[in-house]
Amino acid sequence: MVTSNEKPSRIKVRDKFFRLYLSKEKIDEIVSGIARSIDRDYSGKTPLCLGILNGAFIFASDLMRKLQIPCEISFVKYSSYHGMESGEKVNRLIGLNETIRGRDVIIVEDIVDTGLTMTKLLYDLKQYQPASVSIACFCFKKEAFRENFKIDYCGLEIPKLFVVGYGLDYDGAGRNFPDIYQLDETDQ
Ligand code: 5GP
Repeated sequence: MVTSNEKPSRIKVRDKFFRLYLSKEKIDEIVSGIARSIDRDYSGKTPLCLGILNGAFIFASDLMRKLQIPCEISFVKYSSYHGMESGEKVNRLIGLNETIRGRDVIIVEDIVDTGLTMTKLLYDLKQYQPASVSIACFCFKKEAFRENFKIDYCGLEIPKLFVVGYGLDYDGAGRNFPDIYQLDETDQ
């Protein structure tokens, strides 16, 4: 049993062990910083935050609650990840609609890895003619990035690690950990 002041330094999610990478306190500071930047840049506007499910649901809700400007939220869902490898093909599962037209959209993503998912979303989004599009992502794996879009609000650059927690899963599990953990390959 873990009490409120303790956090496990090592967790098991399904068959894998993970060790603590980023505390929820640090996560909170990062999200606050992103919210302050968005408040400043979107002053006088009412942006539509567009979270990418499933992973971004926690980051999107934290970010939304820290924003002081009026804003709205919607979600889109893609599938690209299988187990621990980024898939080559990205399929849209649930989507966008006409409410996008003329809006200032802020895409809210938990993690950008190869960038393939975001590239697909940016392409799809264009068809709905938003007034503007920017990207807020919590983690960015710069070394894995293969695309060429700009990330306007980047919480944290991380190496090519596999991480879970704070909405990120391993095979559907582990999203509920408030801290972020990296795969511990020393003792699997
Ligand atoms: P991309 O299309 O940029 O390669 O991958 C983006 C998606 O892959 C993210 O939305 C996320 O769901 C998943 N992903 C990428 N890296 C990781 C990771 O380290 N851990 C987890 N749990 N998911 C990841």
